[in-house]
Amino acid sequence: MTSSNKFQIDHLGIAVRSLDAALQFYEHQLGFTEAQRETVDQEKVKIAMLPAGESRIELLEATEPDSVIAKFIEKRGEGLHHVALKVPDLAATVDRLRTQGARLLNDPRPGAGGHLYVFVHPLSTGGVLLELIQQ
Ligand code: ZN
Repeated sequence: MTSSNKFQIDHLGIAVRSLDAALQFYEHQLGFTEAQRETVDQEKVKIAMLPAGESRIELLEATEPDSVIAKFIEKRGEGLHHVALKVPDLAATVDRLRTQGARLLNDPRPGAGGHLYVFVHPLSTGGVLLELIQQ
């Protein structure tokens, strides 16, 4: 397999205080169209997905004060929260990363849209929270 075309940026996750306030900019001012709105209970977030070519912008709003998104905004303000890559074989990627000592934050589990995902700690990725999603 050539490695050049193996990965695709699935979405950029942006932490916001209010989806509706953020959509004022992204939808009404910039012209994005919201394709999907979903609550992910296990992450205590509401998300709005905005298609951007082959990729998407994912706006994230906390639904509980102890949500990771609420804590992130408390500490750092609104902003880029994670980068999500689609991988062809998530299980194999997770095995390889574990073997090599990368810090994964969860076991693969279904998230928004039912796709399996894991998060990789910024300490392993050059300072960016990385989400890997099964293609
Ligand atoms: Zn995401």
